[in-house]
Amino acid sequence: MAQLFKNYINGRWENGVTTGVSENPSDLDDVVGEYARADSNHTEAAIRAAASACDAWAHTTPQRRADVLDQIGSEVLVRKEELGQLLAREEGKTLPEAVAEAGRAGNIFKYFAGESLRSAGERLASVRPGVDVEVSREPVGVVGIIAPWNFPLAIPAWKIAPALAHGNCVVFKPAELVPGCGWALADIISRAGVPAGVFNLLMGSGRQVGQAMVDSPLVDAISFTGSVATGEQILRATAARRAKVQLEMGGKNPLIVLADADLEQAVECALQGSFFSTGQRCTASSRLIVEAGVHDRFVARLRERMLALRVGHALTRGTDIGPVVNRSQLEQNQSYIEIGRNEGAEHVVGGDLLSRETRGHFMSPALFLAQPQHRIAREEIFGPVACVLKADSYEHALTLANDTPFGLCAGLCTTSLKHATHFKRNAKVGMAMVNLPTAGVDYHVPFGGRKGSSHGPREQGRYAAEFYTTVKTAYTFA
Ligand code: NAD
Repeated sequence: MAQLFKNYINGRWENGVTTGVSENPSDLDDVVGEYARADSNHTEAAIRAAASACDAWAHTTPQRRADVLDQIGSEVLVRKEELGQLLAREEGKTLPEAVAEAGRAGNIFKYFAGESLRSAGERLASVRPGVDVEVSREPVGVVGIIAPWNFPLAIPAWKIAPALAHGNCVVFKPAELVPGCGWALADIISRAGVPAGVFNLLMGSGRQVGQAMVDSPLVDAISFTGSVATGEQILRATAARRAKVQLEMGGKNPLIVLADADLEQAVECALQGSFFSTGQRCTASSRLIVEAGVHDRFVARLRERMLALRVGHALTRGTDIGPVVNRSQLEQNQSYIEIGRNEGAEHVVGGDLLSRETRGHFMSPALFLAQPQHRIAREEIFGPVACVLKADSYEHALTLANDTPFGLCAGLCTTSLKHATHFKRNAKVGMAMVNLPTAGVDYHVPFGGRKGSSHGPREQGRYAAEFYTTVKTAYTFA
């Protein structure tokens, strides 16, 4: 019997109206679990519970919130191998990647335990005699958290932890494909001393549960990570009712490789950034912009390294690349392979459907030589498909890198301090990497982008306070 994951509403585990099934993309005969699908009535109940719990939680001491978050972080860290197994089984990233993600989630809770205690204000002299001015931060209220499937422990952690640390109540909706990970996190949170209503878990569809959260006048803020289309819809709905909103969406991140770069290091950055986690990362390097002087050598070496990658079951020791998350994402990847061929991009390697011992969504990582106007060089694919664009010079490469509607992150491989410095100043992104893959970021510093990739304040680190608090200015005459 598969485990039934229930919703967590007002401190109780609740059944849904129907149940859904969570599948293992490495082995379609393996059911990870059944989950209770919430509807709009459950959503309303969770939101009302959160709204009722807000005042009391907002006035708890920072020590209490720090203790709760520390306990959650400790349990996640102690159980990171087991949580990593669940993640690898449900989402399909390899076991080492999944265990690392679980560890990261634990560290995020630990970090925000400290942030509860560091929430600072300021006191200023007024421009009027006898008046003092205090500027303080207060919780926003009820925060709706809507998460994607590709980092099912880390992304919920980097939203839930700051929300609770800064005294907010949470209604959390994981993505439909990964209810098991959402439930595991909720189970840990439910045992950490959080009062009823302060944290709620709702599993269900975006259209029903997500939409009801976005539209509810009792939800003061929405933090969303997912696709551009959904993000734009949420932006319109929250703007209409003036709720606070934070959106993290897609990317088409460039990695520039200059002729003076350490070739092995550059190939490693490209391989990691483009194909690890099956390319299912908003920070993936999907445009490799390579200076003409090193272009052919770079492509040959990257091809060689790609051919050596082992694609297979996420839980098998030695697997480098796990499966694609589900059939529709696999079909999307395959359709972009087709689009690339049809628009005249030169196919270098990969993109084949692979069969393994178990029935899973396996494909080999693909590489194309493309032109800047090609769709495969402009649109987010969200799979193990990358393209190489040839550049005449650093300046040309930077122009190509910035020529995109997205602006999440960008990388540069070089040994030139001059170019590295110029790049950090001029890349039109939220995160710039020098001699590192575009994917792979620290948990204590801001995360987010510009242009079509992000909207609203940054996530993570102390910058998270911008979204999860509101500022009050108080005047006293004495
Ligand atoms: P998605 O937009 O389909 O779903 C994201 C979440 O939104 C899910 O929980 C879904 O149920 C919910 N949702 C769907 N419709 C909704 C609606 N009408 N109202 C409210 N909620 C709704 O995205 P996905 O397929 O889960 O994730 C992949 C996308 O996420 C990619 O485009 C990727 O780039 C992006 N992503 C971005 C970041 C980042 O930080 N920038 C990180 C990871 C993933």
